[in-house]
Amino acid sequence: MAQINHHFQKLKAGYLFPEIARRVNAFADAHADAEVIKMGIGDVTEPLPAAIVQAMHVAVDEMGSRDTFRGYGPEQGYEFLRTAIVEGSYAGMGIAADEVFVSDGSKCDSGNILDIFGIGNRIAITDPVYPVYVDTNVMAGNTGDANAQGKYDGLLYLPVTEENNFVPEIPDQEVDLIYLCYPNNPTGTVVGKEVLQQWVEYARSHGAIILYDAAYEAFITEEGIPHSIYEIEGAHSCAIEFRSFSKNAGFTGTRCGFTVVPKQLMGIDDAGKEVSIHALWNRRQATKFNGVSYPVQAGAAAAYGQQGKAEIAELVAFYLKNAQLLKQGLESLGIRVFGGVNAPYVWLKTPGGASSWEFFDLLLEKTHLVGTPGSGFGAAGEGYFRLSAFNSRANIEESVERLKKFLQ
Ligand SMILES: *Cc1c(COP(=O)(O)O)cnc(C)c1O
Repeated sequence: MAQINHHFQKLKAGYLFPEIARRVNAFADAHADAEVIKMGIGDVTEPLPAAIVQAMHVAVDEMGSRDTFRGYGPEQGYEFLRTAIVEGSYAGMGIAADEVFVSDGSKCDSGNILDIFGIGNRIAITDPVYPVYVDTNVMAGNTGDANAQGKYDGLLYLPVTEENNFVPEIPDQEVDLIYLCYPNNPTGTVVGKEVLQQWVEYARSHGAIILYDAAYEAFITEEGIPHSIYEIEGAHSCAIEFRSFSKNAGFTGTRCGFTVVPKQLMGIDDAGKEVSIHALWNRRQATKFNGVSYPVQAGAAAAYGQQGKAEIAELVAFYLKNAQLLKQGLESLGIRVFGGVNAPYVWLKTPGGASSWEFFDLLLEKTHLVGTPGSGFGAAGEGYFRLSAFNSRANIEESVERLKKFLQ
């Protein structure tokens, strides 16, 4: 019989979103006329910007004509997109076009990256956290089993809560890989340059690598908040950055992202010799990936054009206004709210000390609103709750009305 990868058996049953769906369905069955508004899963709601649609139409026509048809493209992405990314997102940061690897999304890359790292690395994640970082490490065999709290042996969990202002503490032990995500999903919080500088210094002095997820970079509104880890001195020799067109340009269904791997970045082999991480990732992509479709890359490049930039700015501003309405509505009810200023997520402290799931049930029952229990993102998320601002304005306004009616 074929042996399976037994590490998969350590995974907690894909618990969070199926459990939400189960409870919502049960509620809907019992209350057929209730108008449920879903503010749980972080998926965009608005259509692709016109500039992107136009560019994709043109590209599809090119693919339909013998003279302009394209077959396999470079596994790393077309030069036109890699250059647009460097000029549009990394100007002045010392990143070269051949350090950018275009992909079908940053969820995929943040999981696939473990292909090039050895077993036995010590891994730090924040708690709560984007579940992909945890589960991909479980699959790769980097953890032991989960304990009763749902925490895996072998991972270093760095709590981020109101008590530490959602800033993870620098470890007092050795770690080799560090996952950081800013602006953060699920908490919607950000960190300043000083905090990232400390992480870069830790990584450099311990030979660790920071895996920096900047999928929500476009939502940063406040001055002085870094958009990229490469704004931090020294980061080029200790950090990989993941970015995505999903949340800013509405590509969750269209699929395009990219990963930046500076050539300076080194890992170590079994003999203690330094090895280029860039070369390994290039080899991995060239072997296991055949590039993103040409029309999608053409669409992504249009995100950097004049019209594309303006349309994306409008889209981001729209979601941020939703977040602001949610935040203000909740705050007017005396609820403590975090995030929602530089991110499309509002992270709230459940009123009256309710557990995350108690608040979920209460909210569903009384207001017919669906959010995400904070405890689903990690033990330290207990007592918190996430609301997503990815929704229509009408739904957001209706949600705020219902919250006020119920919680006042
Ligand atoms: C949505 C999201 C992404 C983007 O994933 P894609 O695969 O590019 O759609 C990456 N990281 C986090 C934390 C996210 O929430």
